[in-house]
Amino acid sequence: ENKKVSAYLDEIYRSVVKRDPNEPEFHQAVAVFLQSILPLLEKEPHYMDLGILEQIVEPERVISFRVTWVDDNGKTQVNRGYRVQFNSAIGPFKGGIRFDPSVNLSIVKFLGFEQTFKNSLTGQPIGGAKGGADFDPKGKSDNEIMRFCQSYMTELARYIGPDIDVPAGDLGVGAKEIGYMFGQYKRIRGAYEAGVITGKAPVYGGSLGRTEATGYGTIYFLKEMLRDIGHNISGSSVVVSGSGNVSIYAMEKASQLGAKVVACSDTSGYIYNKNGIVVEVLKRIKQVDKGRVSDYLEFDPDTTFHENCKGIWSVPCDVALPCATQNELDEEDAIELVKNGVIAVAEGANMPCTLKATNVFLENGVTFGPAKATNAGGVAVSQLEMAQNSMRLKWTFEEVDERLQDIMMNIYENCVDATEQFDSATNLIQGANIAGFKKVADAMIAQGV
Ligand code: GLU
Repeated sequence: ENKKVSAYLDEIYRSVVKRDPNEPEFHQAVAVFLQSILPLLEKEPHYMDLGILEQIVEPERVISFRVTWVDDNGKTQVNRGYRVQFNSAIGPFKGGIRFDPSVNLSIVKFLGFEQTFKNSLTGQPIGGAKGGADFDPKGKSDNEIMRFCQSYMTELARYIGPDIDVPAGDLGVGAKEIGYMFGQYKRIRGAYEAGVITGKAPVYGGSLGRTEATGYGTIYFLKEMLRDIGHNISGSSVVVSGSGNVSIYAMEKASQLGAKVVACSDTSGYIYNKNGIVVEVLKRIKQVDKGRVSDYLEFDPDTTFHENCKGIWSVPCDVALPCATQNELDEEDAIELVKNGVIAVAEGANMPCTLKATNVFLENGVTFGPAKATNAGGVAVSQLEMAQNSMRLKWTFEEVDERLQDIMMNIYENCVDATEQFDSATNLIQGANIAGFKKVADAMIAQGV
């Protein structure tokens, strides 16, 4: 039986690679997913008979468009924009937009695929999607950013809507960019459809707590992971990579709960202090002064700065939180972390650990929280934003934060339950994929081909 299922999964994987041979990130995400759901298919073969896997690895719709804008020197610039509407079985398409020079179809597809199961895991009625453009916001003036966002939305507007597809932010897209995009959408539609995009500023329909949600959610999930292995977040030493929204709020919540953040990074390098970094100071440097992590040394000369940002994984710690970007933590880094005694790893970014790195953690008994579960707090609060927009009312920060905590605890329990049916050992990767998949698959079956 096992052999039959794995031959079937191999066949699915091979057809994905054959159809789009140059999409390594997408292949990686599909491979991990297929591997994880093997025990479920053995027990419930009807998913294979009904062709659900063949459908679920193929996006419902892939949109690619030209984004033309005029820079400050009057020169015409051209970028490529994308929106991959991956799966709408359980709700309108939902997922962020990434502006980064690395963006290509493989990356947008892997993110949209992951988003489908992540959104399902939240327990909320949202489908999966992702968008982006190969635009580099670094070094651009505010006016250039605005013109780019407007042009991107001019092309995207016809494909989205509060009941169709609801974008949000991701790398390179924060509240400012969301505002410019929403403004353009409103001009085009001639209607105030607040729920068409999330991550808006609270003054015009954004939810309180959305900015903090991904980072806080990762720590709420981590708390459950640690409790299950008899550890406490309080007193744990934590290493966090990345300098964006996710990492800042992961550090903030971790330190509020008594953990010691010993190292953090940005693209210029990492800082280390074995006695702990004062997160409030670092937050000011990053968010108010728009500085670099190395500026922290002015505040505390006992802290050291290291230029190689990947070196952060050689810092001894109890908990590692990769919160920068995909494939930032490889096999070598994982071996180093294990050697230095890491007990838990939770992914704040999307797919930050390579397949080999993940296997090193699992083989060495390190508790591992996969991105689609651990960083689901961001999109979960996005859905709370949609709900508030629909009701035309606004919840307090405390109300949102309480719901976020409940959602993260539920995701954790669902992952554990899903894996314990098949295996005595808790494997959260398997649990997240099985629990996320089942709901989407059952909805697809119910709705017919
Ligand atoms: N980009 C975020 C993610 O990876 C948030 C998406 C959203 O809020 O729709 O989940």
